[in-house]
Amino acid sequence: MKILWSVSAWRGCLEGCLVGMALLLITFSAMVEAPPLAISMFFFLTMVAAAGWAGLRVRLTAGPWKKVLITEGFHSLGMAAGLVVGVGAFLAVSGHLDLLQKSHVGQWGSIFFLGLGAPGYLGVRVFSYFWRFWDYLRRTRYVWGLTHTILCLIGAVGALALVTAIIYTAKVDQINLSEIPADSIFGRVVVWIFTFLLISLLAGFVGASIFTLPAVGFSYWVARRLTGRLDHLVETANALRQGNFSARVKVEGQDEVAAFQENFNNMAADLEKSTRTLQEERDKVARLLTLQRELTAGISHELRTPAATLTGYVDSLRQNLDQQTPQSIRHDLEIIAHEAGRLQNILNDLLTLSQSEADRLSLKLQPVAVEEVMRRAVDTLAPLAWKSKRVQVVADIKDGLPPAWGDALRVEQIILNLIQNGVRYTPPGGAVVASASLAEGGVLLEVADTGEGIRPEDLPHIWERFYRADNSEHVGEGVGLGLALVKELTEAMGGSVDVESAPGEGSVFRVRLPVCDTIATFLR
Ligand code: ADP
Repeated sequence: MKILWSVSAWRGCLEGCLVGMALLLITFSAMVEAPPLAISMFFFLTMVAAAGWAGLRVRLTAGPWKKVLITEGFHSLGMAAGLVVGVGAFLAVSGHLDLLQKSHVGQWGSIFFLGLGAPGYLGVRVFSYFWRFWDYLRRTRYVWGLTHTILCLIGAVGALALVTAIIYTAKVDQINLSEIPADSIFGRVVVWIFTFLLISLLAGFVGASIFTLPAVGFSYWVARRLTGRLDHLVETANALRQGNFSARVKVEGQDEVAAFQENFNNMAADLEKSTRTLQEERDKVARLLTLQRELTAGISHELRTPAATLTGYVDSLRQNLDQQTPQSIRHDLEIIAHEAGRLQNILNDLLTLSQSEADRLSLKLQPVAVEEVMRRAVDTLAPLAWKSKRVQVVADIKDGLPPAWGDALRVEQIILNLIQNGVRYTPPGGAVVASASLAEGGVLLEVADTGEGIRPEDLPHIWERFYRADNSEHVGEGVGLGLALVKELTEAMGGSVDVESAPGEGSVFRVRLPVCDTIATFLR
């Protein structure tokens, strides 16, 4: 619990008056008997006790100095008035009001002594404010902290010297001056000075021998505190240098070293943050490089097969043209046309993907009537799917669908890709259903099939370029770019994709596209 400068003005001044009056009460019986001069001194002491107590108890005021001055003046007057009234009432009740007159300074003099409580209180307050300032200085500035320590030591030595001097002076008093063989005032003064010098020397010696050891210990302790904190800083700096970026120093106190410790910690935090960012960037670049390498390998691999087929057929045609029948030439040319088309498709997909990666994909964004696009895609693919694989492709489209915001050709490309995949991975007798509806936050396009489904370990990767589930049944049927393209195109139009699938239970691919409303159109 804090005792000094911790209570309100009312309470502090009241406590002060009560302390003064308690002192008066304790010394009252002696006071009644005392001679006039002593009575005055009793009143004076009462005032000192009251002013001292109140001055040390009342909370210090903060704010501009004019406000502090007015507040403190007001409190001092209140305290003194309270003391005069309190003492007067006490004397009147106890029937000794005459003590005021009996005092050496008379009735008004006694009241004046009690009234001195006001300047007395103010004096204690001036000291208090000075102490507060000094306390702040010594806590925040190392040099003032050290000065304070030394001053405390000097004060202690001085106090001891004073006590010793008083004791010795009392003894010297007992010396009979008339015995000193000096017949002049000068001689006696010399003897007195000599005696006091001796006493001071002795006091100094006693003080020094008592305080030297504690002073040395204390200075060592103070210095050790500082060097200990600096050692800790050096250790932490070394840890940082060795790569431990989470190392921090403990901030102790409020002085310059503490400010340094705090700055050091801030600097370490900045360093940690920028290093983490750099590491993240480095990892990203490394990931991109790996992706790029895989991509190059994937592209060369995928282009090699159609290119080799093309070269093989063209060479064979060139060398055996004379021996070939028109039917076999037509057959070879059809294979060449098919492979050339495949090559062109792969190159187109790759071009689209790289444009989207470089943010150069040109999209013609406009309101898209999704149901129309979907119906067209289903109409295009359904006959072929039935003829070649006995897979039914149907559309299930809700009426009154609002237009989506996108590029009509790209939306069609997305739907075609998903339906083609559905047909490819669905065995004969199955079905692919393409539906469109309004869902939370956009238009939802769904392509569901009753096909073979996707294994859980493949699911996270199917959107990657050139990723193909390890399935010998479908070797040579695709290159693994279709879903990557679906994802890139959808996201470029501000939409999102996801899939739900389990082996043997078919798959549902979902594409969400933003709805085209007038405000959205305006903002774009
Ligand atoms: P691909 O040209 O191989 O079809 P995609 O990128 O379109 O390439 O698809 C990647 C992989 O995802 C496919 O190899 C296949 O394993 C799986 N997949 C895509 N669609 C379906 C589907 N409807 N049913 C089952 N598996 C699918």
